[in-house]
Amino acid sequence: MTDRLTGTRLHQLDAAARRVLERAELEGIELIRFLYADHAGVIRGKAAARSRLAERLSSGIGHTVAMMAMNMLDQLQEVEHMGPVGEVRIVPDATTYVPLPYAPGAAAMLSDLRMPDGSPWAACPRTFLKDAVAELRAEGYTLEAAFEPEFTLGRRLPDPSGGPDRLVPIDDSLCYAAIGFDTAHDYAIKLVRALETQGLRVEHYHPELGPGQQELSIRHAPALRAADNHVLYRETVRGVALRMQMWASLAPKPLADQAGNGAHLHLSLWSDTRNVFASDNEVRDGFIGGLLAHLPALTALTCGSVNGFRRLAPRMWASAYAVYGPDNREAAVRVCSPLGESGEPNLELKPSDSAANPYLSLGAVIHAGLDGIRRKLDPGEAVEVDPDTRPGRYPRLPSSLDEALDALEADEVLMEALGPLRRSAYLAVKRSEAAAFAGKDTSYELFHHLRVF
Ligand code: GLU
Ligand code: MG
Repeated sequence: MTDRLTGTRLHQLDAAARRVLERAELEGIELIRFLYADHAGVIRGKAAARSRLAERLSSGIGHTVAMMAMNMLDQLQEVEHMGPVGEVRIVPDATTYVPLPYAPGAAAMLSDLRMPDGSPWAACPRTFLKDAVAELRAEGYTLEAAFEPEFTLGRRLPDPSGGPDRLVPIDDSLCYAAIGFDTAHDYAIKLVRALETQGLRVEHYHPELGPGQQELSIRHAPALRAADNHVLYRETVRGVALRMQMWASLAPKPLADQAGNGAHLHLSLWSDTRNVFASDNEVRDGFIGGLLAHLPALTALTCGSVNGFRRLAPRMWASAYAVYGPDNREAAVRVCSPLGESGEPNLELKPSDSAANPYLSLGAVIHAGLDGIRRKLDPGEAVEVDPDTRPGRYPRLPSSLDEALDALEADEVLMEALGPLRRSAYLAVKRSEAAAFAGKDTSYELFHHLRVF
């Protein structure tokens, strides 16, 4: 059988790709977005017209290698092998096809960046996570994960004094205050429906601490799916707001004097159907030990923006110290008690936000945990107090992006896992962001983060 429009032989496509073609036609989809997350943490992509979809499902869409050297201000960095010469393809994973409820006529697929011959590109972030998952599987484990995102709902308005646009929150409701359900109700219902339609299972929703701040959590999933879900989530939070003439921002700290937006990372490790964190203390402790040992470096990937380090302050429930503790909400790693009879224990990594590239972030977390398991790293004492009440006793997390990048450069395990091309590009992009915001005022930093995240 041959596709009517393109002449592509359909039997060359696998079953998932053929289903995408059928669905796109049936659902009246005109543009199919091929999405990826870049080193800045920005979600980018190109869209294929339906008439070209059969061919593009296998060939991907052509793309310059240089885009992975772009920072969040669209300033291209000099990175070897990421200049004007060279080509990759944005190749969609057909199993992730989903019509976008907030953008009628459009659908999306999460994509890999591949070499023109179809082999994985050394700087593809989604491949980084896939490889980490494979390494974990080789040790006999799988990882379930969920991002627990917070965001600020408001309107993007010009600054009366001529400065950059500001985010003006939709309400001043208090933390968990029931009036906040009503002020954000129309948006929240549209958001829940849009997420559920895309196959993301909504768990809980509440008006959070800061003005306009919302928290809506999604059920855990296998690691790759969890990262894919977080890309779809970020797109949906912003897309639904835009269609309602609002602006939603998942930036870590869109309002400098208010609560930050985290995306705490919930993790549980499984061996077949057994939750290892519930049944094997040695492995659990090793995993926690690995997270803590690599935490200064990890934050360069899990909180990889200049704005993100404003969030990691004491008494903000966002964590500022590299410690762990049972249900300790000021610890970087909270050991969560199980919820309900069928509940399972899991770890919650608090220094994690939605400005991170979720594939790099989760992949790096896996490498850190694996290192801890392999080396049986001791996590030390569980901390059962607010660590900030014991001055000088516990190690602080990095206080700036540059400090975190210094730790990353010194972390052999993570540098090795990233590989030469990815790490040189990541460091160049992130160092350039640190330099670009240094010396600029706060409103400039807030604007540029709420604009893209
Ligand atoms: N807003 C806090 C953060 O930035 C998290 C508050 C909480 O949910 O415990 O991480
Ligand atoms: Mg919260």
